Amino acid sequence: MNVPFVDLSAQYAQIESDVEHALKRVLQQTSFILGEEVSLFEEEFAAYCGVDCAVGVDSGTSALELLLRAYGIGPGDEVITVANTFIATTLAISYVGARPVLVDADPQTYTIDVTAIESAITPRTCAVIPVHLYGQPANMDAITAIAERHNLVVIEDACQAHGAWYKGRRVGSLGHAAAFSFYPGKNLGAYGDGGLIVTNDSHIANSIRALRNYGSVQKYHHPVLGYNRRLDTLQAAVLRIKLRHLDTWNAARRSHAEQYNARLCKRELSLPTIAEHATSVYHLYVIRVPDMRGALQSSLQTRGIATGIHYPVPIHLQPAYEHLGYAAGDFPVTEFFAEQILSLPMYAELSPEQLDCVITAVNCCLKEQVSERPVAQAA
Ligand SMILES: *Cc1c(COP(=O)(O)O)cnc(C)c1O
Repeated sequence: MNVPFVDLSAQYAQIESDVEHALKRVLQQTSFILGEEVSLFEEEFAAYCGVDCAVGVDSGTSALELLLRAYGIGPGDEVITVANTFIATTLAISYVGARPVLVDADPQTYTIDVTAIESAITPRTCAVIPVHLYGQPANMDAITAIAERHNLVVIEDACQAHGAWYKGRRVGSLGHAAAFSFYPGKNLGAYGDGGLIVTNDSHIANSIRALRNYGSVQKYHHPVLGYNRRLDTLQAAVLRIKLRHLDTWNAARRSHAEQYNARLCKRELSLPTIAEHATSVYHLYVIRVPDMRGALQSSLQTRGIATGIHYPVPIHLQPAYEHLGYAAGDFPVTEFFAEQILSLPMYAELSPEQLDCVITAVNCCLKEQVSERPVAQAA
């Protein structure tokens, strides 16, 4: 049996006729740019998150970048985020000319270590970007308390956490604003690139509306230097259909995670820890394999099971960020994770047989490898 890492075709099979009708409608209306589907999707997604405003853009990276611009963050400013994230989080900070200031990850939840934030704050710090990594909300109460004390903007990177909950509230409603990505493999994915910002601040939402559309508020009138960063009408039409299924799909992911939690061999692995206040949407199911990740990954591959590493090289050790001046050892928790983490197949349509296959294979491979370990010499 083959178990891919994600299976977008299984999802498409469920929604094929709805998608075809919606795409056909857009094609017939020819409203390809900022058509009705875009504003309808924005309204529906804002309501889903429990916020007032949503503005569609062309990617999650753009959503983060345009938010930073809308808040007036630029050269000379510092923005705090976590070393354990996808590089797009820090790229957005770099694009506006600000400096990414990294802090380590929490050893339990893998999200930003809130105890390390305050010592990273300087007079130049303007904002903090917590990342709801792997689908788990960051420790937002602690973060907003620090931000209030130091007058910082809180921008949630919710690109991996569509629909996740924190103390009864959806991610996207927890900071001043949030960025979502609709990259195809995300929990809510388009059929191409897409992104969106949400906020309760209509002033910020209006700035983003202008920034995504050449800086215009009224056609051919440009108070600011804007960009071409809109969400396509075709993508919005697809996303409207998928949004109706998101809670069901996320619940299926959670149920798969429960199976993994209950049945994977805990002696040789560290399983994900979800904080008490959080409901994860398991964008990824990430285990830690202390001694033999490489061996486990390749024996799973031989058995037709695909896995991933999210992420193998921490941001501060990427050549692209050499100029920040960080070194190995600066963020030990993040570095330790990078050596041990392994993402198992995770998507709503995983069948019970596929789950059995992954669980049996992981447990089997671990047992084989443990028995092959050289026996310690008696003194
Ligand atoms: C996917 C992702 C992004 C970027 O989204 P794109 O739509 O690919 O630009 C940003 N941050 C995190 C944590 C992500 O996973």
